[in-house]
Amino acid sequence: MRLLFVNAHERLFIEESHPRHHLAPVALGTAMGFATEAGFDVDFVETSTGEVKLRDLKRIFKKDSAEIVILHPTYELGPHIRDIVRLALCRDRKVFVAGGPATHRWRAILEETDAHGVITGEIDDTPSDIARALLEGLELDGIGNLAIRKGDSLVPATPRIRKRGLDSLPFPRHDLLTKPKYRFYYPLKNKGRLRMGYLMTSRGCPYSCVFCSEVERSSFGKGYEFHSPKRVTAELKQLAELGVTGAYFVDDLLSLQKKQLLELCRAIEDANTGISWCAQLRADDVDDEVAIALKNAGCASVACGIESGSDRMLKSMKKGSTVDGMFKGVQALKRAGVSVITYLIIGAPGETEEDRNLTLRLGEQMDADIVQIHIFASYPGTAANASRPDLGINGATKFSPASGRADEAELIRVQKAFYRRYYLRPDRLVHHAIQRIPRILSDPQAELGAAWRLFRHATMP
Ligand code: SF4
Repeated sequence: MRLLFVNAHERLFIEESHPRHHLAPVALGTAMGFATEAGFDVDFVETSTGEVKLRDLKRIFKKDSAEIVILHPTYELGPHIRDIVRLALCRDRKVFVAGGPATHRWRAILEETDAHGVITGEIDDTPSDIARALLEGLELDGIGNLAIRKGDSLVPATPRIRKRGLDSLPFPRHDLLTKPKYRFYYPLKNKGRLRMGYLMTSRGCPYSCVFCSEVERSSFGKGYEFHSPKRVTAELKQLAELGVTGAYFVDDLLSLQKKQLLELCRAIEDANTGISWCAQLRADDVDDEVAIALKNAGCASVACGIESGSDRMLKSMKKGSTVDGMFKGVQALKRAGVSVITYLIIGAPGETEEDRNLTLRLGEQMDADIVQIHIFASYPGTAANASRPDLGINGATKFSPASGRADEAELIRVQKAFYRRYYLRPDRLVHHAIQRIPRILSDPQAELGAAWRLFRHATMP
C-alpha cells in the first residue's frame, strides 16, 4: 500500500508580500518514518517552496497510485482545504487531514470537506494504523487520534497514549524532507551552498502565552519531552550524510531545561558534523554559559519570541517573562557571537500607544540581526481566541492578517515604517551585506530575492 503525504501550504492560493521562509513539516516526516517502518511505500509532496504549484498538485493527485493521501494543511489555507481535499479525492482513494488546523477544527473539516478522517494531535503512527486497518478490511474507529465520519455522525478522536519515550520514535524521513528546495533566511555559518535539514529535539511547551496555538507550533501540549543527545547527534549525522549544511531545530522551546540543553550542546560539539544550526528559544532562559555552549555547538542563530517591550503587555499576554530578562538573554547571545532573530507583536488587546512604542523601541535597542513584527492574531485553540475571536486570520497570515479590525491598516503601516527605519539604516545595510557575503556568493538568487522582497514589502503601500 502506498501513502502520499502532502504539505499543503497557503502559498498555493495566496501571494504574500511579507518575506519569510518556510519550514519542513518534521512531524509529518516522523509519520512518514512510522509508515516506512511498517513496510508501506511512502512519498512526500511539498508545496510551500513554490516548486509545486496548484496545477502540478492536480497532476500529481491524478497520476499517483497512492491509496491513501495524508494532507497536512497550514491553518492559513483556510477554506481552500476543501479544494485540496476535493483534488486529492480521485482514483478512489482515502484522504485524511492532519496537523495545522486539524486538532482544533476537526469537526468543521469533516463537516465542510469530504475527507475520510482528521488526525488530531501528534500524527505519529496514525497514518500507518489507518493503512493497516484498510489493508485488513477493518473499521477505522478506535484508531488513536483519528476523528471520523460514521453514517450521519462525527466520531471524535480517542487520544493515543505513547507508552515509550521520545527516542522510541523512528527518525523522520530526512531523505524525503531534504528534497524540496527550502530557503532559509536566518543567519547560518554553513560551509558551501546552503542545503537545509530540519529536526525536532523536543516536544511540548509548558507555558500558556495567550496567542500561542498548536495550529502554528511544531508540537502539541504542555508536557515537555526531549530526545537524548545521542539520538539528536545521530539525526544530525544522517543529515550531514544527506549533504545538509544548515539545520533548523523546529522545537517550540529548546531552552526549558538548562542542564539538558548544555548536555545537548556538548554532544553536538563532540559529534562535529559541520552543520551550522538555528533554534527557537526563550531569551530569558539564556545566560553566558548557555550562550557560549550554543556557540561552541555550531548554533549560528536563535529566534526568540520577545513579543513586547512593555512588562504590562507581557503580563497580559501571559508570557511569563520580563523585558529585562529578555534583554539580558539577547545581550548574552550577542556577546557569545550568536546571531539573534527577535519576534515582536503589535496590536494585542489592551495595547496602548505607549506599550507599542516601548515594543518598537525595544526592537531597536536589542539590535538583532532580524526583527519580525507580527500583528496580533487569535488562532484557534488560544486563550485569545476564546475572548477575541474577532482578531482571527481570514485568508491571510500573521504578518498581515485580514481580520477586518478597525486598526488593521494602521498596524501594517507601523510594521512597514519600523522595517524601513530598521533595515535601511546605512550601518545595518553594510553589516548585513558583510555578514551574508558567503550566502550571496553561494546562492545569489535566494539572497537577493529575499532582500528585494523585504525592500518591496517595507516601501510599498
Ligand atoms: S509562545 Fe513559546 S513559550 Fe509561549 S506557549 Fe508558545 S511555544 Fe511556549
